[in-house]
Amino acid sequence: MLLLLRGGSVFAPEPLGICDLLVGGGKILAIAPKLPPMEAFAPAPVTEISLQGARVIPGLLDAHVHSTGGGGEAGPHTRVPAVPLSAFTLGGITTVVGLLGTDGTTRSMENLVAATNALRVEGLSAYCWTGGYEVPPVTLSGSVRRDIAFVEPIIGVGEMAISDHRSSQPTFEEFIRIAADCHVGGLMTGKAGILHLHLGDGKRGLSLVRRALDETELPPRVFYPTHVNRNKALFDEALAIAPRGPTVDVTAFPVEEGEDAWSAEDAIERYWAAGGPDSRITCSSDGGGCLPTFNGQGELVRMDFARPSALAGALRALLDRGHPLERVLPVFTSNVANLLRLHQKGRIAVGTDADLVVLSDEHHVRDVLAGGRVVVRHGVPTVRGTFE
Ligand code: ZN
Repeated sequence: MLLLLRGGSVFAPEPLGICDLLVGGGKILAIAPKLPPMEAFAPAPVTEISLQGARVIPGLLDAHVHSTGGGGEAGPHTRVPAVPLSAFTLGGITTVVGLLGTDGTTRSMENLVAATNALRVEGLSAYCWTGGYEVPPVTLSGSVRRDIAFVEPIIGVGEMAISDHRSSQPTFEEFIRIAADCHVGGLMTGKAGILHLHLGDGKRGLSLVRRALDETELPPRVFYPTHVNRNKALFDEALAIAPRGPTVDVTAFPVEEGEDAWSAEDAIERYWAAGGPDSRITCSSDGGGCLPTFNGQGELVRMDFARPSALAGALRALLDRGHPLERVLPVFTSNVANLLRLHQKGRIAVGTDADLVVLSDEHHVRDVLAGGRVVVRHGVPTVRGTFE
Protein backbone atom coordinates (compact mmCIF):
# COMPACT_ATOMS: atom_id res chain seq x y z
CA MET A 1 0.00 0.00 0.00
CA LEU A 2 1.15 3.53 -0.82
CA LEU A 3 0.79 6.47 1.53
CA LEU A 4 0.68 10.01 0.21
CA LEU A 5 1.39 12.77 2.72
CA ARG A 6 0.16 16.02 1.20
CA GLY A 7 1.44 19.49 1.94
CA GLY A 8 3.81 19.00 4.87
CA SER A 9 6.47 21.53 5.76
CA VAL A 10 9.42 19.16 5.48
CA PHE A 11 12.62 19.46 7.51
CA ALA A 12 15.14 16.94 6.22
CA PRO A 13 16.64 18.27 8.76
CA GLU A 14 17.25 21.27 6.47
CA PRO A 15 14.00 22.96 5.42
CA LEU A 16 12.67 21.72 2.05
CA GLY A 17 9.53 23.88 2.11
CA ILE A 18 5.98 22.58 1.55
CA CYS A 19 6.23 19.15 -0.06
CA ASP A 20 4.22 16.01 -0.80
CA LEU A 21 5.84 12.74 0.33
CA LEU A 22 5.09 9.36 -1.26
CA VAL A 23 5.78 6.37 1.00
CA GLY A 24 5.75 2.69 0.04
CA GLY A 25 7.55 -0.51 0.97
CA GLY A 26 8.81 1.17 4.11
CA LYS A 27 10.74 3.79 2.12
CA ILE A 28 10.31 7.36 0.98
CA LEU A 29 9.66 6.94 -2.75
CA ALA A 30 9.22 10.54 -3.87
CA ILE A 31 9.37 14.09 -2.56
CA ALA A 32 8.08 17.02 -4.61
CA PRO A 33 6.25 20.28 -4.09
CA LYS A 34 3.23 18.74 -5.86
CA LEU A 35 2.88 15.01 -6.62
CA PRO A 36 0.17 13.81 -9.06
CA PRO A 37 -3.38 13.01 -7.81
CA MET A 38 -4.02 9.63 -6.18
CA GLU A 39 -5.60 8.18 -9.34
CA ALA A 40 -2.22 8.47 -11.07
CA PHE A 41 -0.92 5.63 -8.88
CA ALA A 42 -3.76 3.21 -9.76
CA PRO A 43 -4.12 0.29 -9.50
CA ALA A 44 -1.92 0.55 -6.38
CA PRO A 45 -4.08 1.40 -3.36
CA VAL A 46 -3.16 4.83 -2.01
CA THR A 47 -4.10 6.38 1.31
CA GLU A 48 -3.84 10.15 1.37
CA ILE A 49 -3.23 12.22 4.50
CA SER A 50 -3.47 16.00 4.30
CA LEU A 51 -0.93 17.73 6.54
CA GLN A 52 -1.97 21.33 5.82
CA GLY A 53 1.48 22.77 6.38
CA ALA A 54 2.30 20.83 9.57
CA ARG A 55 6.02 20.22 10.07
CA VAL A 56 7.38 16.80 9.09
CA ILE A 57 10.72 15.73 10.59
CA PRO A 58 12.76 12.50 10.58
CA GLY A 59 11.85 9.99 13.29
CA LEU A 60 14.05 10.46 16.36
CA LEU A 61 16.92 8.08 17.12
CA ASP A 62 17.54 7.13 20.74
CA ALA A 63 21.00 5.58 21.11
CA HIS A 64 20.65 4.82 24.81
CA VAL A 65 17.63 2.83 25.91
CA HIS A 66 17.27 0.14 28.57
CA SER A 67 14.86 -1.77 26.39
CA THR A 68 14.79 -4.77 28.73
CA GLY A 69 14.36 -2.40 31.68
CA GLY A 70 17.36 -1.29 33.77
CA GLY A 71 17.82 -0.65 37.47
CA GLY A 72 17.99 -3.23 40.21
CA GLU A 73 20.31 -1.08 42.30
CA ALA A 74 18.16 -1.24 45.41
CA GLY A 75 17.28 -4.91 45.35
CA PRO A 76 15.48 -7.24 42.96
CA HIS A 77 12.14 -5.42 43.29
CA THR A 78 13.73 -2.30 41.75
CA ARG A 79 14.45 -3.97 38.39
CA VAL A 80 12.60 -1.70 35.94
CA PRO A 81 10.22 -3.57 33.58
CA ALA A 82 10.76 -3.66 29.80
CA VAL A 83 9.79 -0.54 27.88
CA PRO A 84 6.57 -1.03 25.83
CA LEU A 85 6.42 -0.09 22.13
CA SER A 86 4.12 2.90 22.52
CA ALA A 87 6.45 4.51 25.08
CA PHE A 88 8.83 4.98 22.15
CA THR A 89 6.39 5.79 19.37
CA LEU A 90 4.42 8.35 21.41
CA GLY A 91 7.75 10.11 21.93
CA GLY A 92 8.50 10.19 18.20
CA ILE A 93 11.28 7.60 18.52
CA THR A 94 11.50 5.24 15.55
CA THR A 95 15.03 3.88 16.05
CA VAL A 96 16.35 2.62 19.38
CA VAL A 97 19.67 1.19 20.50
CA GLY A 98 19.15 -0.95 23.58
CA LEU A 99 21.67 -1.72 26.30
CA LEU A 100 22.32 -3.37 29.64
CA GLY A 101 23.36 -1.09 32.48
CA THR A 102 24.60 -1.81 35.99
CA ASP A 103 23.04 -5.24 35.99
CA GLY A 104 24.66 -7.66 33.56
CA THR A 105 24.12 -10.41 36.12
CA THR A 106 20.36 -10.96 36.30
CA ARG A 107 20.01 -9.34 32.86
CA SER A 108 21.79 -10.88 29.90
CA MET A 109 22.77 -10.21 26.30
CA GLU A 110 20.47 -13.09 25.31
CA ASN A 111 17.61 -11.18 26.92
CA LEU A 112 18.67 -7.89 25.27
CA VAL A 113 18.97 -9.34 21.76
CA ALA A 114 15.55 -10.95 22.20
CA ALA A 115 14.05 -7.63 23.36
CA THR A 116 15.65 -5.92 20.34
CA ASN A 117 14.18 -8.47 17.97
CA ALA A 118 10.79 -8.11 19.68
CA LEU A 119 10.76 -4.36 19.00
CA ARG A 120 11.61 -5.07 15.36
CA VAL A 121 8.68 -7.44 15.02
CA GLU A 122 6.44 -4.79 16.60
CA GLY A 123 7.55 -2.27 13.96
CA LEU A 124 10.45 -0.26 15.33
CA SER A 125 14.02 -0.11 14.01
CA ALA A 126 16.05 -1.59 16.85
CA TYR A 127 19.73 -2.32 17.53
CA CYS A 128 21.75 -2.96 20.66
CA TRP A 129 25.10 -2.51 22.33
CA THR A 130 26.90 -5.50 23.80
CA GLY A 131 28.53 -5.32 27.22
CA GLY A 132 26.89 -3.10 29.83
CA TYR A 133 28.72 -1.44 32.74
CA GLU A 134 31.09 -4.35 33.32
CA VAL A 135 34.65 -5.15 32.30
CA PRO A 136 35.25 -7.66 30.87
CA PRO A 137 32.03 -6.97 28.96
CA VAL A 138 29.21 -9.52 29.17
CA THR A 139 28.76 -10.80 25.63
CA LEU A 140 26.63 -13.24 23.69
CA SER A 141 29.40 -15.08 21.82
CA GLY A 142 32.33 -14.75 24.22
CA SER A 143 33.97 -11.73 22.60
CA VAL A 144 33.05 -8.19 21.68
CA ARG A 145 34.41 -8.57 18.18
CA ARG A 146 32.50 -11.81 17.56
CA ASP A 147 29.29 -10.22 18.84
CA ILE A 148 29.68 -7.31 16.40
CA ALA A 149 30.70 -9.60 13.55
CA PHE A 150 28.05 -12.29 13.95
CA VAL A 151 25.04 -10.83 15.77
CA GLU A 152 23.22 -8.56 13.36
CA PRO A 153 21.57 -6.08 15.79
CA ILE A 154 24.80 -5.54 17.84
CA ILE A 155 26.66 -2.41 16.66
CA GLY A 156 29.27 -1.78 19.37
CA VAL A 157 29.84 -1.83 23.14
CA GLY A 158 27.79 0.09 25.68
CA GLU A 159 27.27 1.44 28.18
CA MET A 160 30.69 0.65 29.67
CA ALA A 161 30.97 2.54 32.95
CA ILE A 162 33.90 4.78 33.84
CA SER A 163 34.43 7.30 36.65
CA ASP A 164 31.58 5.70 38.59
CA HIS A 165 31.40 3.72 41.84
CA ARG A 166 29.33 1.11 39.96
CA SER A 167 31.96 0.56 37.25
CA SER A 168 34.45 -2.31 37.14
CA GLN A 169 37.18 0.31 37.58
CA PRO A 170 38.80 -0.65 34.24
CA THR A 171 42.50 -0.01 33.78
CA PHE A 172 43.70 2.06 30.82
CA GLU A 173 44.89 -1.12 29.05
CA GLU A 174 41.51 -2.82 29.47
CA PHE A 175 39.78 0.33 28.27
CA ILE A 176 41.75 0.72 25.04
CA ARG A 177 41.59 -3.02 24.29
CA ILE A 178 37.79 -2.89 24.30
CA ALA A 179 37.82 0.33 22.22
CA ALA A 180 40.11 -1.39 19.70
CA ASP A 181 37.75 -4.38 19.44
CA CYS A 182 34.88 -1.97 18.76
CA HIS A 183 36.87 -0.15 16.09
CA VAL A 184 38.02 -3.28 14.27
CA GLY A 185 34.57 -4.88 14.63
CA GLY A 186 33.16 -1.77 12.95
CA LEU A 187 35.70 -1.97 10.12
CA MET A 188 34.91 -5.64 9.53
CA THR A 189 31.17 -5.12 9.30
CA GLY A 190 30.39 -1.51 8.36
CA LYS A 191 28.55 -1.20 11.68
CA ALA A 192 29.04 1.69 14.12
CA GLY A 193 32.06 0.17 15.91
CA ILE A 194 31.59 2.53 18.83
CA LEU A 195 32.49 2.31 22.52
CA HIS A 196 29.53 4.00 24.20
CA LEU A 197 30.63 5.14 27.66
CA HIS A 198 28.52 5.68 30.76
CA LEU A 199 30.08 8.53 32.72
CA GLY A 200 29.59 8.67 36.46
CA ASP A 201 30.14 11.59 38.81
CA GLY A 202 33.72 10.57 39.64
CA LYS A 203 36.42 13.20 39.49
CA ARG A 204 38.41 11.23 36.91
CA GLY A 205 35.75 12.33 34.40
CA LEU A 206 36.88 11.83 30.80
CA SER A 207 40.57 11.28 31.66
CA LEU A 208 40.64 7.76 30.14
CA VAL A 209 39.28 9.13 26.85
CA ARG A 210 41.77 11.99 26.80
CA ARG A 211 44.63 9.58 27.43
CA ALA A 212 43.42 7.28 24.61
CA LEU A 213 43.35 10.25 22.23
CA ASP A 214 46.85 11.28 23.32
CA GLU A 215 48.52 7.87 23.34
CA THR A 216 46.80 5.52 20.89
CA GLU A 217 46.06 5.32 17.17
CA LEU A 218 42.34 4.77 17.79
CA PRO A 219 40.15 7.21 15.85
CA PRO A 220 38.34 9.66 18.16
CA ARG A 221 34.91 8.71 16.74
CA VAL A 222 35.19 5.36 18.56
CA PHE A 223 34.63 7.09 21.94
CA TYR A 224 31.02 8.14 22.57
CA PRO A 225 30.56 9.31 26.17
CA THR A 226 27.05 9.84 27.57
CA HIS A 227 25.48 11.49 30.64
CA VAL A 228 28.03 14.30 30.12
CA ASN A 229 25.54 16.84 31.48
CA ARG A 230 25.20 15.00 34.82
CA ASN A 231 27.53 17.52 36.51
CA LYS A 232 28.88 20.84 35.38
CA ALA A 233 32.59 20.02 35.65
CA LEU A 234 32.10 16.91 33.51
CA PHE A 235 30.20 18.95 30.96
CA ASP A 236 33.13 21.37 30.68
CA GLU A 237 35.35 18.36 29.94
CA ALA A 238 32.91 17.27 27.23
CA LEU A 239 33.02 20.75 25.68
CA ALA A 240 36.80 20.49 25.55
CA ILE A 241 36.89 16.99 24.06
CA ALA A 242 34.29 17.32 21.25
CA PRO A 243 36.60 19.48 19.06
CA ARG A 244 39.14 16.62 19.24
CA GLY A 245 36.72 14.25 17.46
CA PRO A 246 34.50 12.27 19.83
CA THR A 247 30.74 12.84 19.75
CA VAL A 248 29.27 13.66 23.16
CA ASP A 249 25.79 12.58 24.25
CA VAL A 250 23.61 14.46 26.71
CA THR A 251 20.89 12.66 28.63
CA ALA A 252 17.36 14.06 28.83
CA PHE A 253 16.99 13.36 32.55
CA PRO A 254 15.01 15.59 34.90
CA VAL A 255 17.15 18.27 36.58
CA GLU A 256 15.98 20.04 39.69
CA GLU A 257 16.54 23.69 40.55
CA GLY A 258 19.96 24.21 42.11
CA GLU A 259 21.26 20.74 41.13
CA ASP A 260 24.87 20.47 39.91
CA ALA A 261 23.73 19.30 36.44
CA TRP A 262 22.52 20.77 33.17
CA SER A 263 19.20 19.78 31.66
CA ALA A 264 19.57 18.45 28.10
CA GLU A 265 18.25 21.71 26.65
CA ASP A 266 20.61 23.81 28.79
CA ALA A 267 23.55 21.57 27.86
CA ILE A 268 22.82 21.70 24.12
CA GLU A 269 22.43 25.50 24.22
CA ARG A 270 25.72 25.80 26.09
CA TYR A 271 27.44 23.48 23.63
CA TRP A 272 26.35 25.68 20.72
CA ALA A 273 27.26 28.88 22.57
CA ALA A 274 30.75 27.47 23.23
CA GLY A 275 31.20 26.85 19.49
CA GLY A 276 31.15 23.04 19.77
CA PRO A 277 31.19 21.25 16.38
CA ASP A 278 27.54 20.99 15.24
CA SER A 279 27.82 17.36 14.16
CA ARG A 280 29.31 16.04 17.45
CA ILE A 281 26.47 16.37 19.91
CA THR A 282 23.53 14.01 20.36
CA CYS A 283 20.79 13.51 22.94
CA SER A 284 19.33 10.28 24.32
CA SER A 285 16.61 9.39 26.82
CA ASP A 286 18.12 6.63 29.00
CA GLY A 287 14.54 5.30 28.81
CA GLY A 288 13.83 2.37 31.12
CA GLY A 289 16.98 3.16 33.10
CA CYS A 290 16.86 3.87 36.79
CA LEU A 291 17.43 7.36 38.13
CA PRO A 292 18.99 6.61 41.51
CA THR A 293 20.31 9.13 44.01
CA PHE A 294 23.20 7.85 46.15
CA ASN A 295 24.73 9.28 49.31
CA GLY A 296 28.50 9.60 49.86
CA GLN A 297 28.74 5.94 50.92
CA GLY A 298 27.21 4.66 47.67
CA GLU A 299 23.91 3.87 49.40
CA LEU A 300 20.71 4.49 47.49
CA VAL A 301 18.49 7.18 48.99
CA ARG A 302 15.93 7.71 46.19
CA MET A 303 14.83 5.96 42.98
CA ASP A 304 12.92 6.82 39.82
CA PHE A 305 13.16 5.58 36.23
CA ALA A 306 13.66 7.42 32.93
CA ARG A 307 11.08 7.65 30.16
CA PRO A 308 11.72 7.72 26.39
CA SER A 309 9.30 10.68 26.06
CA ALA A 310 11.98 12.87 27.65
CA LEU A 311 13.75 12.99 24.28
CA ALA A 312 10.87 14.77 22.52
CA GLY A 313 10.56 16.91 25.66
CA ALA A 314 14.12 18.20 25.19
CA LEU A 315 13.48 18.89 21.51
CA ARG A 316 10.30 20.80 22.40
CA ALA A 317 12.10 22.81 25.10
CA LEU A 318 14.71 23.97 22.58
CA LEU A 319 11.99 25.00 20.10
CA ASP A 320 10.10 26.80 22.89
CA ARG A 321 13.28 28.79 23.51
CA GLY A 322 13.22 29.97 19.90
CA HIS A 323 15.95 27.83 18.32
CA PRO A 324 15.23 27.04 14.66
CA LEU A 325 14.03 23.50 13.99
CA GLU A 326 16.79 22.87 11.44
CA ARG A 327 19.38 23.71 14.11
CA VAL A 328 17.81 21.52 16.77
CA LEU A 329 16.96 18.45 14.68
CA PRO A 330 20.44 17.03 13.91
CA VAL A 331 21.06 16.50 17.64
CA PHE A 332 18.13 14.05 17.71
CA THR A 333 18.34 12.63 14.17
CA SER A 334 21.14 12.97 11.60
CA ASN A 335 24.05 13.35 14.05
CA VAL A 336 23.06 10.07 15.73
CA ALA A 337 22.47 8.26 12.42
CA ASN A 338 25.82 9.40 10.99
CA LEU A 339 27.78 8.34 14.05
CA LEU A 340 26.04 4.96 14.19
CA ARG A 341 26.44 4.45 10.42
CA LEU A 342 22.68 3.97 10.06
CA HIS A 343 22.61 5.44 6.58
CA GLN A 344 18.87 4.92 6.03
CA LYS A 345 18.00 6.86 9.19
CA GLY A 346 17.92 10.40 10.50
CA ARG A 347 17.15 12.14 7.19
CA ILE A 348 14.19 12.67 4.90
CA ALA A 349 15.33 11.88 1.35
CA VAL A 350 14.22 9.64 -1.49
CA GLY A 351 15.29 6.08 -0.69
CA THR A 352 15.66 6.51 3.07
CA ASP A 353 13.46 4.64 5.55
CA ALA A 354 10.00 6.16 5.99
CA ASP A 355 10.47 7.03 9.67
CA LEU A 356 8.63 10.32 10.05
CA VAL A 357 7.17 12.51 12.78
CA VAL A 358 4.58 15.25 12.31
CA LEU A 359 4.79 17.98 14.93
CA SER A 360 1.80 19.91 16.27
CA ASP A 361 1.86 23.71 16.36
CA GLU A 362 2.91 23.46 20.02
CA HIS A 363 5.89 21.23 19.07
CA HIS A 364 4.31 18.04 20.40
CA VAL A 365 4.61 14.69 18.60
CA ARG A 366 1.32 14.41 16.68
CA ASP A 367 1.70 11.64 14.10
CA VAL A 368 4.42 9.01 13.69
CA LEU A 369 5.34 6.68 10.85
CA ALA A 370 7.78 3.86 11.62
CA GLY A 371 9.03 1.96 8.59
CA GLY A 372 6.21 3.46 6.52
CA ARG A 373 3.46 2.37 8.92
CA VAL A 374 1.33 4.87 10.85
CA VAL A 375 1.94 4.00 14.51
CA VAL A 376 0.65 7.21 16.13
CA ARG A 377 -2.13 9.46 14.82
CA HIS A 378 -3.22 12.67 16.57
CA GLY A 379 -1.20 11.72 19.65
CA VAL A 380 -2.82 8.27 20.04
CA PRO A 381 -1.03 4.96 19.31
CA THR A 382 -2.59 3.12 16.36
CA VAL A 383 -0.26 0.18 16.90
CA ARG A 384 0.51 -1.26 20.34
CA GLY A 385 3.10 -3.69 21.64
CA THR A 386 2.12 -7.32 22.08
CA PHE A 387 1.30 -7.03 25.80
CA GLU A 388 0.06 -3.44 25.94
ZN1 ZN B 1 24.26 5.09 32.13
